[in-house]
Amino acid sequence: MPSPSSFGVTPGALTLALAFALVASLLIKFWLASRQIRHVAQHRGAVPAAFAAAVPLDAHQKAANYTIAKARFGLLNLAFSAALLMGWTLMGGLDLLNGWVLQAAQHLPATWSDSWRSMGYQLGLLTAFTLIGGVFDLPWEWYATFRLEQAFGFNRTTPATYVADLFKGLLLGLLLGLPIAALILWLMGMAGPRWWLWAWGVWTGFQLLLMLLYPTVIAPLFNKFTPLADETLKTRVEALMQRCGFASKGLFVMDGSKRSAHGNAFFSGFGPAKRVVFFDTLLNKLQPGEVEAVLAHELGHFKHKHITKRMAFMFAASLGGFALLGWLASWPGFYLGLGVQPNLGAPNDALALLLFLMVVPVFGFFVTPVFAQLSRRDEFQADAFACAHARSQDLRSALLKLHEDNAGTLTPDPVYARFYYSHPPASERLGALPGANTGAPA
Ligand SMILES: [Zn+2]
Repeated sequence: MPSPSSFGVTPGALTLALAFALVASLLIKFWLASRQIRHVAQHRGAVPAAFAAAVPLDAHQKAANYTIAKARFGLLNLAFSAALLMGWTLMGGLDLLNGWVLQAAQHLPATWSDSWRSMGYQLGLLTAFTLIGGVFDLPWEWYATFRLEQAFGFNRTTPATYVADLFKGLLLGLLLGLPIAALILWLMGMAGPRWWLWAWGVWTGFQLLLMLLYPTVIAPLFNKFTPLADETLKTRVEALMQRCGFASKGLFVMDGSKRSAHGNAFFSGFGPAKRVVFFDTLLNKLQPGEVEAVLAHELGHFKHKHITKRMAFMFAASLGGFALLGWLASWPGFYLGLGVQPNLGAPNDALALLLFLMVVPVFGFFVTPVFAQLSRRDEFQADAFACAHARSQDLRSALLKLHEDNAGTLTPDPVYARFYYSHPPASERLGALPGANTGAPA
């Protein structure tokens, strides 16, 4: 395969492309966020006419304050992440870390073979990078949970739960992440120029395994799942699933209230391991008919194969990603252009993986509105399905309640919503339900 240099691409061109993409994405993000903040602040004074009967003014203003606070926090975090990325790449942070880890790897037992020593160094680099990144993220996550969400009454996480989650996540990351990383690094070193195809196969298999294990093995480490006990609701929900021809391995209630007041319902797992899960926070807020409508919406996603399509797309995109990495990793300019001196006496695969994972999101940002648009289309389809199989009045009131409970703004900036929103703004979403023009929301 020709390397990028055979097309006349120089390391300097890569540096420029990264700098340009980063600055352009920052400008767009700042512009969108400031539009959103301005728009929401301007409409804070009055509930939009279509919602005047259903949403009290104080709820509307709380939603405005929450939206603005989140957007401001997002702007700070954005500036910090961009600086961190520059620090890791063009300013030489990863190069420095790589030097330290290479030196530390000299102390690996002399009885180890060369390939074990190489693997030890590479896994050491990945682990060190991940841990340092985690330390940088920690204050931001802590602030979001214990200051931002707390201030608006959404946080239910105690510091003890937070710390326990941190350690469980770390342990799980080591147990699952290290073996798959080792396998991919081994393929990169051993499987020849088509390593990326093998690595993609392994990665895809790993993703499927995670989905299979998630409902019964991973999720129960963090939350309690109890079979749905409410018999009336159970009968209703089972009748709905039967009407829609949907089989699952049971209905469960999850103690979402352990961490947050936000409510949700979802399916987890796939094939025979599929479960329907309701957050306890959702069941506390909604009437049985409304729960049924929300579940019908989720069933709509299944019936329209949105989840299968999303998975198929993810797998295709990761194939493209691996192929691109396979192409870039053997080109010295890939490392030099991103601020790292490639190793001479050690493999460069871990470096290539890290650089790739850092840089791809910068370029990927520009396709955000395409995916947001596709996702909103899916939401409309699922709503239509829900209205065909449950009462549209119930869906309407459930959506309004959830919107209010999550302090979602009723007046987002239209451009911001077009760009980012995975779900249609409430006015468009409720406006598309049958009977939308027949009066005020129930
Ligand atoms: Zn949905």
